[in-house]
Amino acid sequence: MNDKVPDFIDPKQYPNFWEQMNNFKEFAKSVGQNAAEGNGILVSEDKVRTREEICQSCSQFNRESKKCYVCGCFMQVKWKFKASSCPISMW
Ligand code: SF4
Repeated sequence: MNDKVPDFIDPKQYPNFWEQMNNFKEFAKSVGQNAAEGNGILVSEDKVRTREEICQSCSQFNRESKKCYVCGCFMQVKWKFKASSCPISMW
């Protein structure tokens, strides 16, 4: 497991529903902004794999649902977008 997860993170506890919705809204807004600015939308396959490897080694990754416990996002979607970022800056 990755030992870079800050102590204040409550392990294996998703944010509440409204926080998850807000996180998704911010993510969708960033994707839209990137597209509008002509910066592209998707990252390379290599970058997707790198992000996945980092999440797979993180204690905050639910391997069954593929969701992050910190943001509540479905990571198989989030790994692919340029606008995405790890909520605790692991990638
Ligand atoms: S996005 Fe960050 S906190 Fe969430 S599972 Fe991946 S590495 Fe861990």
